[in-house]
Amino acid sequence: MARNSLGPELPTELSTSPARIVSVAVDAPLPGVLDYRDGEFSLSHGDWVEVPLGRRRVLGLVVDPRRLDHPAAGQDDGKEIPLDRVKSVINHFSKLPVADPKWLGLASFAARYYRKPFGQIAVGLVPKWLRDLKNLIPKKESGPSNLDRLLSQSVSRLAQAASDQNSATDSRLNAEQLLALDAMDRPGVHVLHGVTGSGKTRVYTEAARRCITSSPQKQVLVMVPEIGLTPQLVSRFAAALPGIEIAVLHSEVSERERARLWLLAASGQARLVIGTRLSIMTPMPYLALLIVDEEHDHSYKQQEGMRYSARDLAVWRAQQLGATAVLGSATPAMETWAQLDKKKYQLLSLPYRATGEPPAAIELIDTLKDPAREGLSLLSRQAIAQVLEQSGQVLVFLNRRGYAPVLSCSSCGWASQCAACSIATVLHRIDKKSESSGAGSAGLSIASKWRLQCHHCGAESAVPKFCPDCGDTDLSPIGRGVQRLEDTLAAEFPGARILRIDRDTVKQGKALAAEIEKIQRHEVDIVVGTQMLAKGHDFARMRLVIVADADTQLVNPDFRAPERLFSTLVQVAGRAGRHEQSGAAARVLIQTRYPQHRLYRFLLQQDVAGFARAELADRKAASLPPFSYMAAVRAAYRDETKTRRLLHSLRNELQQFAAQHSWPVTVYGPVARYPEMQAGKWRGQIILESESRPALHQLLAVAEQWMAQHRELDWQLVLDSVEF
Ligand code: ADP
Ligand code: ZN
Ligand code: ZN
Repeated sequence: MARNSLGPELPTELSTSPARIVSVAVDAPLPGVLDYRDGEFSLSHGDWVEVPLGRRRVLGLVVDPRRLDHPAAGQDDGKEIPLDRVKSVINHFSKLPVADPKWLGLASFAARYYRKPFGQIAVGLVPKWLRDLKNLIPKKESGPSNLDRLLSQSVSRLAQAASDQNSATDSRLNAEQLLALDAMDRPGVHVLHGVTGSGKTRVYTEAARRCITSSPQKQVLVMVPEIGLTPQLVSRFAAALPGIEIAVLHSEVSERERARLWLLAASGQARLVIGTRLSIMTPMPYLALLIVDEEHDHSYKQQEGMRYSARDLAVWRAQQLGATAVLGSATPAMETWAQLDKKKYQLLSLPYRATGEPPAAIELIDTLKDPAREGLSLLSRQAIAQVLEQSGQVLVFLNRRGYAPVLSCSSCGWASQCAACSIATVLHRIDKKSESSGAGSAGLSIASKWRLQCHHCGAESAVPKFCPDCGDTDLSPIGRGVQRLEDTLAAEFPGARILRIDRDTVKQGKALAAEIEKIQRHEVDIVVGTQMLAKGHDFARMRLVIVADADTQLVNPDFRAPERLFSTLVQVAGRAGRHEQSGAAARVLIQTRYPQHRLYRFLLQQDVAGFARAELADRKAASLPPFSYMAAVRAAYRDETKTRRLLHSLRNELQQFAAQHSWPVTVYGPVARYPEMQAGKWRGQIILESESRPALHQLLAVAEQWMAQHRELDWQLVLDSVEF
């Protein structure tokens, strides 16, 4: 088979008979598309086919490379295979909806931007169930295929308006909400900046309703950062859009169901798709409105495979379609503020809580003056007691899983470490369902109840009975995770019903929704938990939020750490007292050793825009994103010396290349990543930085060629979301 680069320079007489040749993209790590004989099928751009690939038969997508707006990067390997050896297309799957040209454009843009083969994106992102040819081909010649059965299923199993909420009885939109909605009638990118509870979701549902009712076809895509947030959102949309089919797409949807929803979206039958980041690639031929809720959220960045940013792709997709994109957040990303400054996006503000309630008062507790004994300062304890007395709810936030970050020997200083990673292992108590959450200091001597866990590779080990270095039995946990804080709370407030929420107690989105309901039904008094709790949930009786320890994040050297922390704190603070009509305003207490920190100054004033201006000024001075583009070339290998040496040569090579061609790209490194060792491999990276995106991409192409010559290392190319 001859390999074509997907380039515009392709000869145009490919489609001459008798041996008509078509280009087919497949899900394989090949740079271009493959040639096949059309046979009898008269195939065209966007058709789905079965083709032989080596010894396998796979799903393929017929493309006319000249019709892709953004030809994928590819190299011609130069080997022309004689025409008589070109294989034929085996099957044409005419029941699969012809891929819409705009969607193909999206796939080819994403492939080029994230430097992945076009076929791996366009075919690789089709639901697995549909890529499995068993489902597309009937078992018996005349019988139906699994696909036929799937297609004959009615649409009725989509989420329907099953909500008791009634949009008609909803209060009237306020002036700011109406202004925002009117602006959204115009295509372009709109940033909906509103504090928690300002009525953003209400604007989303109304915008979707307007869009969908304005035409018999238009489709709307709504993205949420986390699966746990979908049930709430789906019921709000269902209430606002009775009778409209909603396709809900996330990682917990079964493969077959995902295939069904994908088909319904691709055929235009599903008018509203709500999903996590993976839904951004859903084919929606009549897509007119894209909403990205909590657009600043890091969950929109895919961490494996194609490392795309679903938010950035949403913006690209809206621009390609001339559609409207809405990026909603209480703390827009720095990238988003920078686009606003350049007048590329439009700012729509919802400055007040829609219910008219004042925002919670944020206060700092200086832990140098009021030390956090067992994790809680005196002031925090008093505040909790007071709220419990008034039967309010309390949220204690600590973004650290487990019981203690490390187990240590008090006589020699030994600290528990993962055997494969250069990082401390975290002490976890294995909670048994039957036990009530244990109060006080449970005996560490019962080894079976405790485990050491590595948060980077997931490895677990037993807790040693004595120090591996000196043999002393006096091993003690250092520091505090949510489990330990839960113990403190149980000991201090014995009558209170305490619920802990973190990834150890809640593993699935469904489970999180159930826990959230418990809180809403007031079946718990104190909630203690991690990041999971910070986002989007609505807790009416939450009168007090305590941030137990944010200092580690405050001193984190990653240039994005302040942005992340600020947004987390705003989110957590937003959980407090959203509907409380009377009584004292809700309080947010932050325990910190650094009350003078700039971040807190803006937080206390609830000045989100001011914080962004200050951060952006710093980033600009240091030439960091969004004022420059960054990419990282990462390598992992069991041998540190060799990895360092190779990264070093690659850096030199790239520096020389850039200099020779006068490409304005700076190459840094190599530097070790944190943690250096993971799963037995040393990890390092070099960083490329440039104010010119094209120059950066040109140099990355050079890096890729070089990487291909050293395949014994695990290589990874990361665009935009570079972390140090
Ligand atoms: P956000 O998404 O910004 O957190 P929501 O849309 O969830 O805000 O609104 C917060 C609360 O305010 C909800 O209980 C909602 O029903 C209510 N709300 C929204 N818009 C209005 C309005 N115009 N008037 C009164 N209440 C409103
Ligand atoms: Zn020791
Ligand atoms: Zn590990």
